[in-house]
Amino acid sequence: MDEYRFPFCPKRACALHWLESNQPYNEYVPWGFYSTKAFGVVPRFRCTACGRTFSTQTFSVDYYAKRVIDYQDLLVRLVSTSSLSAIGRAIAASTDTVSNRLSRASRQALAFESRLSRTRRLSENLAADGFESFCVSQYFPNNITILVGSKSQFVYAADHVTLRRKGRMTEGQKAKRIELEKRFRADSRGVERSFSRIATASLRVLCDEARPALCLWTDEHKAYPRGIAAAPCANALHKLGRLEHKTISSRAERTRANPLFPVNYLDREIRKDLHEHVRESACFGRNVNRQMERLTLYLFYHNFIKAHRARMGPITNALVAGYDGEQVEDELEGIWRKRAMLTRTLLTDCGEASWRRTRRTPLGKDRDYLPGYAVA
Ligand SMILES: [Zn+2]
Repeated sequence: MDEYRFPFCPKRACALHWLESNQPYNEYVPWGFYSTKAFGVVPRFRCTACGRTFSTQTFSVDYYAKRVIDYQDLLVRLVSTSSLSAIGRAIAASTDTVSNRLSRASRQALAFESRLSRTRRLSENLAADGFESFCVSQYFPNNITILVGSKSQFVYAADHVTLRRKGRMTEGQKAKRIELEKRFRADSRGVERSFSRIATASLRVLCDEARPALCLWTDEHKAYPRGIAAAPCANALHKLGRLEHKTISSRAERTRANPLFPVNYLDREIRKDLHEHVRESACFGRNVNRQMERLTLYLFYHNFIKAHRARMGPITNALVAGYDGEQVEDELEGIWRKRAMLTRTLLTDCGEASWRRTRRTPLGKDRDYLPGYAVA
């Protein structure tokens, strides 16, 4: 049995589920095995504290999966403008299977970022802006606000909100919008609420570092000051001068010197690399939560894998932001093997919404399906 070591009991109801990383877990005994097509013989164990059984698969990212798929390969395909159906064709899997693995991978990425953010040493200002795309149909445009490090271009948070379709429409389009809005109506204060979450996420960056204040750059959107005012902690720190909100016109020249350069840069990169956000693409998101899972993976790739500048060698945005390079390497080594567990992960509000799939898809069900193992 010595070849199998487990960090804690996987059952959340058991006291030994909540062990700290420096507390060893030894209270389990071998409990037979079972055979699977994909993973061969899987040994089973029984926790002597709670009496529940588990197997080596319980701790695997492929828990409940019936087929082994290379997650790193999936990620590289996703961030290289491949659509789900193109990925499915390339690896001989259905789009449902591809989506299932991307969901799992997105939770791995959220947990990865959460573990590493505990030890990061940051020292930079931030810029935030809305990235506009759509989901389901052009009648449901959305705004994804991204919070980016001014120096590193590391993305600290991304928050989604569905907007009401505006702009010039034909009479027929106006009538269709009225019909659709009987079934789904976007929150008229959505951008403000979304920015409240982003302002709150920016405080984590402030708390992480030793310096007394940070500056958050945005354009002159009127919802942003209201969003800060509506977020209790952000508002308090704003009043104390520790969170300084500075604005610049969105019509200002989009050069490197523009304080919104980091978000403008991200906007361009996302439109270039993620198929569903390419302008005039025939491919688009059909489910908000899945769209955000794919964006989570894109941002994980952008933050921790892609080079900060093509000519600077293997320096990632995370290293420029102040993450520990050795720790990043260590964690990357196990990211597609050890299953991330929600109970062991501290998430931002935006991250929690992505993990639990609580965002509402226009015209979709009130609540998206979330497999039990994702919240166990
Ligand atoms: Zn137990």
